[in-house]
Amino acid sequence: MNFLVTGAAGFLGSALANRLVADGHAVRGLDDLSAGDPERLSPRVLFTRGDVNDRPKLWTLLQDVHCVYHLAARVSVPESVLYPREYNAVNVGGTVSVMEAMRDAGVQRVVLASSGAVYGDHGRQPLNEGETPSPRSPYAVSKLSAEYYVQTIGQLWGLETVALRVFNAYGPGQPLPAAHAPVIPRFLRQALQGGSLVVHGDGRQTRDYVYVDDVVEALAAAAVRQEINRLVINVGSGQETSVRELARLVGEAAGQPVDVLYSKAESGGVSRMCADLRLAEERLGFRPRVSLADGLRLTLERDARFAGLKSVSP
Ligand code: NAD
Repeated sequence: MNFLVTGAAGFLGSALANRLVADGHAVRGLDDLSAGDPERLSPRVLFTRGDVNDRPKLWTLLQDVHCVYHLAARVSVPESVLYPREYNAVNVGGTVSVMEAMRDAGVQRVVLASSGAVYGDHGRQPLNEGETPSPRSPYAVSKLSAEYYVQTIGQLWGLETVALRVFNAYGPGQPLPAAHAPVIPRFLRQALQGGSLVVHGDGRQTRDYVYVDDVVEALAAAAVRQEINRLVINVGSGQETSVRELARLVGEAAGQPVDVLYSKAESGGVSRMCADLRLAEERLGFRPRVSLADGLRLTLERDARFAGLKSVSP
């Protein structure tokens, strides 16, 4: 098949694009490199630098494409609180641009990378796709709006659509920005440097951490499965892990005891998050394979940034 992956130079986009070319597909990648790195991509991925709001570029890239994976987005919840206009322009506006260009080019299917963040805070866990979304950040609002646009424009023009609500993905190559770094690469770096792990809030908040290869498996299935049109489908591990427990597992993976500091100044975010995976199993044949302990070990083994730190740690 011929694919276009937007956000192809990013963490999930590059893992997906590399997997698709390894499976023998023809893959074009688009990314503006605001966060991504094209060096991660196999030379077999035809990469173009560009913005998802550049429709002439999209028209060119979409010729003869069967399925679009739309992953390009700004992805930081705290940053979205500071810059909601930008999150709206890229995550919502960019999605509308991709849908319009797909309509014009006659592409059959789009798979949207949405987020578990759209659920917000719910006491009832695990979270089922029928739960009423309750977004708590501009990022979450933008992902929910993107879902609605994809479904609505898809319905109006007869494009097949599916949105995967990915929970907390992690693995080798996950960005580690100086500000607002995601918890797993931040903890791994802190542990390897022999420092304290800084937990936001009291650490009792739970998340569903899913390894990148499992997310890629679900994305791959979403391009070809039948009877998933218009669905939103959770993609997670189905395991609920507190941040305290995560800190312990990171210490084990790093092979050294870790101190944990609790920063009450920073909010720990929503109190609980765990994906109900029944629909994913039924419609995508999805079953996560990598446990959190194994995924942390694989991340340390496969990510050169951590190998470097290990050699200098005491
Ligand atoms: P990432 O930041 O590594 O990848 C996003 C990519 O999009 C980056 O390479 C960035 O350069 C690119 N991009 C940003 N703005 C763009 C624009 N205007 N035009 C073209 N490219 C642009 O993040 P990721 O973790 O790989 O996330 C990929 C997708 O999955 C996103 O849509 C995100 O919302 C979704 N998602 C990720 C997670 C997770 O835990 N990683 C969870 C839920 C959903």
